Amino acid sequence: MDNTNPLLQRSARPDFAAVRPEHAALAIEPLLATADAALEAAVGDAVPADYDALSRTLDVPVEQLGHAWGIVRHLHAVADTPELRAAYTAMLPRMTDFFTRMGADERLYDKYKALAASPAAAGLNAARRKALADAQRDFVLGGAELQGAARERFAQIQERSAELSQKFAEHVLDATDGFSLYVDEARLDGVPADVRSAARAAAEAEGRPGFKLTLHAPCLWPLLMYGNDRALRETLHVAYNTRASEFGPPELDNSGLMREILELRHEEAALLGHASFGQLSLVPKMAQSPEQVIGFLRDLGRRARPHAERDLAELRAFAATDLGLAELQPWDLAWASERLKEARYAFSDQEVKQYLTEPRVLEGLFGIIETLFEVAIRPDTAPVWHESVRFYRIERGGARVGHFYLDLHARPGKQPGAWMTDAQARWRRPDSGTLQTPVAYLVCNFAPPVDGKPALLTHDDLITLFHEFGHGLHQLLTQVDELAVSGMSGVEWDAVELPSQFMENFCWEWDVVRRLSAHVETGEPLPRALFDKLLAARNFQSGMAMLRQVEMALLDMRLHTEADASGRVQAIADEVRAEVSVLPRSPRNRFVASFSHIFAGGYAAGYYSYKWAEVLSADAYGAFEEAGVFDPAVGRRYRQAVLEAGGSRPALESFKAFRGREPNIDALLRHQGMA
Ligand code: ZN
Repeated sequence: MDNTNPLLQRSARPDFAAVRPEHAALAIEPLLATADAALEAAVGDAVPADYDALSRTLDVPVEQLGHAWGIVRHLHAVADTPELRAAYTAMLPRMTDFFTRMGADERLYDKYKALAASPAAAGLNAARRKALADAQRDFVLGGAELQGAARERFAQIQERSAELSQKFAEHVLDATDGFSLYVDEARLDGVPADVRSAARAAAEAEGRPGFKLTLHAPCLWPLLMYGNDRALRETLHVAYNTRASEFGPPELDNSGLMREILELRHEEAALLGHASFGQLSLVPKMAQSPEQVIGFLRDLGRRARPHAERDLAELRAFAATDLGLAELQPWDLAWASERLKEARYAFSDQEVKQYLTEPRVLEGLFGIIETLFEVAIRPDTAPVWHESVRFYRIERGGARVGHFYLDLHARPGKQPGAWMTDAQARWRRPDSGTLQTPVAYLVCNFAPPVDGKPALLTHDDLITLFHEFGHGLHQLLTQVDELAVSGMSGVEWDAVELPSQFMENFCWEWDVVRRLSAHVETGEPLPRALFDKLLAARNFQSGMAMLRQVEMALLDMRLHTEADASGRVQAIADEVRAEVSVLPRSPRNRFVASFSHIFAGGYAAGYYSYKWAEVLSADAYGAFEEAGVFDPAVGRRYRQAVLEAGGSRPALESFKAFRGREPNIDALLRHQGMA
């Protein structure tokens, strides 16, 4: 193997700066060949149906392949170039093909079945038994019981679906990047100074006069919330909500991709004996059936609707009397809502933002994690992919627990949104016997620092940051030694947001916010009066927000449950909107064409899980409210029952181990002012 290829050096601290697009194929090809050979060896007679023997033979090379590919995928997401994208796209079908074949290999399935049936299986620890049961279930879901033509077709569907999802995401990114608008300062009335500075700098970097506006979050949302130029808001709103649709460039139109993706998913479900992709997708989840999920969502929708109608009536009345807007258009909603919020609570996100400087916020967040979960977070060094990225080490009692990268700022070539992915998982390695500690990537798209001042976060940014750290802690604090069920691995999809949404609750505690705020000019903490207003505003329009989530989740489940959905994507989107939403919307709105969560992001028939997990997370946080938010005993119990257990047992068991009972919906409704 080539020792100069950074992707072939199995390191916990890869040399990102040294990765060249051509390294992808040069590393992935030989690693795939090794993994292939390992698969052949693992299914042969020389390797007994023994947990350790199988893991040594197969898991070691497959994990190394996954690790190298993870670096390519990560760089494609945070530091993309046309060359890297081409290299990634070229290898993607090969990766998909390998994992599809391994996941459907009858001989390997037989080996796992023999292992499960062997006398030694009874002596496996609980984590290994769970991993083994999950593996057998996944074989069935991976098509291992299919024969002949059905088997071939299943593999084709996997490969084609991966390509289509990749294209879908590229179209969304290109449509987002492809829009820019150069305006003069007169059109930026109301827009905050830091957003103007960034827009000015962006134009200047291209040697152009004026201000460059884009559809990236740090530019778009302030423009929609604060920009007094109504026509400009309309332009941006329409551009954003028609991205990758039939109203844009035909080469970026996702309509055909959506139809084909849904058809393939339906066909896949039928091959595996399920009535719909929705039903198939729930097999490894907490929820039992699409009907149960749809019932859950419609119940939430019913409870929220009167609150949403009241929210909208208030907004309309305010817009008519105070803003002179006789009719509220979709591009007025955020702007008018912000005005109403200011009028009612006499503060703006911009005011709060002056107190949330990134360095102080991080210090405060780390302090909470250190106190509650009995760890220390220390700066560490590693090669990074951009100069603004930082690297940290987590320790307990001087021993290394894990590491994480922190990449907080939006920039060109970086996918929008915020996410946590694992660079490597905790694992007692069967080859060396050593303990591999976890490493995570924590990625956000906050506005970068401008004018030499620290970066400023909105309260929403703060919530996003805490959310992603919740995922990070799940991955990093696990004490499970089995690769397949450590950290977030093996956790049911609809329970995976429990630790992340749990962390968001701290953003609403005075003791917490006091500690992590410091005014960018004066260093003063957020005034209590301002925090009280923030808190009072917490449930501002919570009914409308709930309905928005219910709408997305219901659309997702219907698209994946109804047999004729592929030909009726926009029609179903319209029906769901008519059933659930109370908001005005342009008939040309095509947000479904950029709904990457379900078409490119793995949330297909799973978008409901945000609300599902919110029930769990709100209820779990209730234990902290009862005992005091910094109660060390509750912190330790939560850490051990939920974070450390990872996927080694069903989420419901972990929840009950922490709370001492089944979850209930009361805390969520209370937190959202609907109790
Ligand atoms: Zn999340």
